[in-house]
Amino acid sequence: MAARRVGVMGGTFDPIHVGHLAAASEVAYRLALDEVVFVPTGLPWQKATAAVSPGEDRYAMTVLATEGDARFSVSRSEIDRPGVTYTVDTLTELAAGGDELFFIVGADALAGLPTWHEPARIMDLAHLVGVTRPGHLVDVAAFPPGSVTLVDVPALDVSGSDCRSRVGRGAPITYLVPQPVVDYIATHGLYAGSA
Ligand code: ATP
Ligand code: MG
Repeated sequence: MAARRVGVMGGTFDPIHVGHLAAASEVAYRLALDEVVFVPTGLPWQKATAAVSPGEDRYAMTVLATEGDARFSVSRSEIDRPGVTYTVDTLTELAAGGDELFFIVGADALAGLPTWHEPARIMDLAHLVGVTRPGHLVDVAAFPPGSVTLVDVPALDVSGSDCRSRVGRGAPITYLVPQPVVDYIATHGLYAGSA
């Protein structure tokens, strides 16, 4: 039996928004993926100085945002792993199931990937899929020729940071994040102090 084609979309998802969902959906369609696993990060070492919402909140929001789509699932792998978490360990764990992995990253994340922990092993474990993102140039110069598949996704200029600051100043995030996530943020008082 052919290996299942599984997309892996990592992120802080603080909160998850339509930019993430549209990108995952488009890549699933274009690369004929069987599934996309969303992996909320544990302690993102490159964001460790910035305040990140508790993993359980980010996990809950990611579940709420994806549960209506049969192609999407959510992994607790990183939020359950103690200490600083690395993508390479997550991919190693996921690859053990025998699936063919496609690691999906936005243009901004792709630019930083060569500075991540063990980038060469990341690329051994998964095909890299770079997706377009408004305001960021897709640059593959740092990668071996042919090692990154680029996918143009519908341009949605939405970010977690902007959603957080919107909540902080009382501006709406309706339609920028799925309604159950809007409700979760309100109920749990997330981002109230965000600027
Ligand atoms: P923050 O502003 O907190 O960094 P973010 O919107 O960048 O939040 P992340 O969780 O950091 O969201 O991103 C997870 C992944 O999704 C990254 O690979 C990122 O490049 C990608 N991504 C995020 N928003 C978009 C978007 N609007 N279009 C395409 N890709 C996106
Ligand atoms: Mg980001």
